[in-house]
Amino acid sequence: MFPRVILKATMIKKSQQKKRTSPCNYKERFFVLDTEALTYSERRPGKKPMPKGCIELSRIKCVEIVCSDVPIPCNYKYPFQVFHGNHYLYVFAPDNDCRQRWVRALKEETKNNNLVAKYHPNFWMDGKWRCCQQAEKLAAGCLLYDPVGFASKKPLPQLPDPEMVLQDSGVQMVIALQDYTPLGDDDLPLQKDREYLLINSCHSDWWSVQDDRGNIGFVPCTYVAEKSGNNFERFEWYNKYINRAEAEDLLLKEGKEGAFMVRDSRQAGVYTVSVFTKAPGSNGEKNPRVKHYQIRQTESEERAFYLAEKYLFSTIPELVHYHQHNAAGLITRLRHPVSQGGCCSQETADLSEVQWEIDPEELTLGQELGSGQFGLVLEGTWRDRMVAVKMMKEECMSLDEFKEEAKIMMRLSHCKLVQLYGVCTQHSPMCLLFEFMENGCLSDYLRDRKGQLSQDIMLGMCLDVSEGMAYVESSNFLHRDLAARNCLVTSNNEVKVSDFGMTRFVLDDQYTSSQCSKFPVKWSAPEVIRFSKYSSKSDVWSFGVLMWEVYNEGRLPYENRSNTEVVESLNAGLRLLKPRLAPESVHVLMEWCWKEKAEDRPSFALLLHELATLSDL
Ligand code: ADP
Repeated sequence: MFPRVILKATMIKKSQQKKRTSPCNYKERFFVLDTEALTYSERRPGKKPMPKGCIELSRIKCVEIVCSDVPIPCNYKYPFQVFHGNHYLYVFAPDNDCRQRWVRALKEETKNNNLVAKYHPNFWMDGKWRCCQQAEKLAAGCLLYDPVGFASKKPLPQLPDPEMVLQDSGVQMVIALQDYTPLGDDDLPLQKDREYLLINSCHSDWWSVQDDRGNIGFVPCTYVAEKSGNNFERFEWYNKYINRAEAEDLLLKEGKEGAFMVRDSRQAGVYTVSVFTKAPGSNGEKNPRVKHYQIRQTESEERAFYLAEKYLFSTIPELVHYHQHNAAGLITRLRHPVSQGGCCSQETADLSEVQWEIDPEELTLGQELGSGQFGLVLEGTWRDRMVAVKMMKEECMSLDEFKEEAKIMMRLSHCKLVQLYGVCTQHSPMCLLFEFMENGCLSDYLRDRKGQLSQDIMLGMCLDVSEGMAYVESSNFLHRDLAARNCLVTSNNEVKVSDFGMTRFVLDDQYTSSQCSKFPVKWSAPEVIRFSKYSSKSDVWSFGVLMWEVYNEGRLPYENRSNTEVVESLNAGLRLLKPRLAPESVHVLMEWCWKEKAEDRPSFALLLHELATLSDL
């Protein structure tokens, strides 16, 4: 009896990388599912189809959609996986319907096979499973596999009335403000700008939501915004029933630079951001004082929100989120949300429990390692481990602000970031304890080993930094001063990112203003030089320059040119030249990082993926 054809479609297949050396690529293939096998072939106009692969259905152990938290690098964006024998085939469907059809049909045909009990909901990428971080490709899955599938077990609910408006029926949709990678089995991955159905928002931090595939799980509520636009009572920065005078009272009492809240204006339907600052004002303004900015809306049909300057956002939470990172026309960026019920946000309340104060008795200081922006760096021993101790000169940094932020920085923990262990504030000068990095800073390391580093090692260094930065990006943190001088090297030549976020505490004007001599213009994106507009994409620009430094063995970029000349050449569209030692494939990535428009640059997640692919070749 001939096999019966069940489905046919053109989809994209990712190379299965059965051998370590096989390249990672994405190819369009014509897939046919019949009652015996899943086959795929290459079809070119005017040519006979060329069979490229065949998977017997009896060898299939799992078929499931892939929940991806990284951008998909091919045109079809709906991935599913077929685990057969010892291999994973990733197929990308053009739309969700097509994907569901294939997953359902494949599940149906394989339901009596010897199936896995658990599977991996995310991709195998860069030597580990993105869902559970296991580094063994054949490691057991981390999520229960449902061989029948939710959709085919239950009768489908009645189709909704096409006239029905979801919001009116009491159904609340939320939009993901950023990607989220699940931390536990009960969490759901979020993809920026996607919509999710809000299931339960009783808990103040974690809401349960449902994605368009019916998966339900928890997500941090700060990562999503309610779609109806102005229903954001749950945000810690929102105070509905507060007038201008009460807002001023609360913020002055809080007394922290950048303490802020969003409140209802007197004018119905309008919102105001009130923010506390100690910055000197013009025209004899009081100091310290509270400034009030009305959130404005554009006239256009697609109404968009903005504050002091025209950076437009489709929701108020997105606007607040942006200004938490960028002053962009405000007197200061929005640093500390303050609410009526007590000024401590949930986050700060939790953080106060983080053990970050180091007992000076436990610390022994050794010889000097170097000196930097904030003062001397000494070798030290703390609890039987080597540490680097930064002695912070008080006149060089704003200590109060730093103490607040250090708690957040301590929470950033990744093998490609130089770990901050804690802070010793009991003595002056205050000191910070960092993981000890035997081989010092990357720029010196490169210069000292000129002519000795292979291209593989250089690629490995870029890969290390992109991995650390992909984590910084996914933690919603900005580096703001990424450069080879701010990366350090371990005894086994691994590179880690250091000094993230520290420029915000520098008090030296020469360093903080883009017009001044010490500002890192040569590593800065055009929008940072022009408007101090920082984002993950401005970090990406700096990463491009860092790659250039690596492949030029620690040479300074634009060696003999002044900052003004560099700005002029950037304005004229010129870029750093390809380093002699860089392969074209790496130079392409540098140029991608230096796209004029921030949104045209890749994310770190994508750069990491691209670099990992190059290192696999
Ligand atoms: P700052 O942040 O104050 O500018 P740097 O980070 O530039 O200081 O540190 C100055 C020097 O101290 C570096 O060039 C490096 O040689 C040394 N150093 C800094 N941090 C460490 C560390 N974690 N391990 C080993 N050496 C370090």
